[in-house]
Amino acid sequence: MKRLSAAEIATAVSGELYGVDPETLLSAGVVTDSREIGPGDIYVARRGENVDGIEFAAAAVEAGAALIIGESVPTVDDSPLPTVLVTDATEALGQLASASVEALRSGGELTVIAITGSVGKTTVKDLTADLLAGVGPTVWPPNSYNNEVGVPLTALRADEDTRFLVLEMGARSIGNLAYLTGLIRPDVAVELAVGTAHSGVFGSIDNTARAKAELVESLIAGSTAVLNADDSRVAAMREVLAADVETLWFSQRESLPEWVGDDRVVRATGISTDASGHPSFVLHLPGEEPQDVRLALVGEHHVGNALAAAAVACTCGVGVKSIVTTLATSSAASRWRMELIDSPSGVTVLNDAYNANPESMRASLKALAAMGRGDADSRPRRTFAVLGEMLELGDESVSAHSDIGELVVRLNITRTIVVGEGAKPIFNSANLEGSWGNEATWVATVAEAKDLLTTELAAGDIVLFKSSRDAGLRYLGDEIAGVS
Ligand code: ATP
Ligand code: MG
Repeated sequence: MKRLSAAEIATAVSGELYGVDPETLLSAGVVTDSREIGPGDIYVARRGENVDGIEFAAAAVEAGAALIIGESVPTVDDSPLPTVLVTDATEALGQLASASVEALRSGGELTVIAITGSVGKTTVKDLTADLLAGVGPTVWPPNSYNNEVGVPLTALRADEDTRFLVLEMGARSIGNLAYLTGLIRPDVAVELAVGTAHSGVFGSIDNTARAKAELVESLIAGSTAVLNADDSRVAAMREVLAADVETLWFSQRESLPEWVGDDRVVRATGISTDASGHPSFVLHLPGEEPQDVRLALVGEHHVGNALAAAAVACTCGVGVKSIVTTLATSSAASRWRMELIDSPSGVTVLNDAYNANPESMRASLKALAAMGRGDADSRPRRTFAVLGEMLELGDESVSAHSDIGELVVRLNITRTIVVGEGAKPIFNSANLEGSWGNEATWVATVAEAKDLLTTELAAGDIVLFKSSRDAGLRYLGDEIAGVS
């Protein structure tokens, strides 16, 4: 965090000070979990559904907290603990992050990058952070810290030394991104895709597009929009950009529409995937010689993610050579996202069960099929797909799951195990389509899936685990991989 006095903090969050000298300077961490307090930290006591964080205020001070931001003033022996009293602690957290980032931006060279889209945010966030970290001190969130708590907490980790702040911004309804960008305005905004993820929450894909557009609508003159030219709803966002916002496109298409200028696009051509699942392509950066790239990530769907990250890197001054070598080594190490593990038993596990929606399920099944086909250097392998429910699809749910059943057959996946009631339409349509030599089974529980796998899997097989996080398949994946 930018070094601020207690008085400056109180002003930033429209709060009142109790039990603390207004001149006290604070620059340590900001936390919302009292168990993570370190010396000199600010503890933001949020009111949760079950517990009110203010109950832990005394323990937080005991653990070293220098200031509490809360909706009441905690006392010990009738004396107030050092507190900024606010009406809404979550909003205060956002306002504090806003004040800190604005102060850092005006005083130095901080560039804020914000990434949104229906799929791929975390992957692109991690890749981008890897690319930028080679140029200067970079702050980025763990996991998917992408909401009104995670974004400010991440932003508050930036300090006077930080050159790049990389933020994942999620939209769960109209207005979410307007709120987040109202707090922290990006200098570079990345729009990956408008897809069916969470469509049950938004009501329609047009609402999803409107919600996602709020990110680029926040850009001011001189900043940059990184847009996916291959997604028509993202491409349409060029119409909502303010004057003098730069556009940098990314595309995997062989021919580009005329509104994409040749000098403002990052492209991949000649895309192929080897039997280990890693995509290769020729990377074209504006004004540079084409470069051969092989991604450390598994699955062809990551080509677009790599292009988005490379586009941000270009805008932020990362050199071509560094972009190519980082893409070849960065595995965007978040767990359970296309995590490839060779188990001691000789089975290859592709654990992608962190979450699932139609786009990502299609992508990981295609990667599984590509790996099973083998190539000039490796023989074909049996492919197992263990698939759970894709959540939050609303009215689309049954048809979306049925489409996956058809795809499993089309891709010739050797063995499909469908787990849980919500995923059953995958089984129903795979079974209906069922071709000779492939088999689909439905089981009610993860335990039954485990029994089947334990009997059937043999050395050399590849097994994909894919479902929304509530279905619990990721832990089964870990078990089969021998990493639990
Ligand atoms: P969340 O909304 O849960 O934070 P996210 O947008 O951060 O998700 P990731 O965590 O990067 O997305 O990826 C989620 C899943 O989608 C992973 O299984 C990943 O392999 C897959 N995925 C990532 N990018 C794409 C893409 N461009 N097309 C299809 N699937 C993708
Ligand atoms: Mg995420």
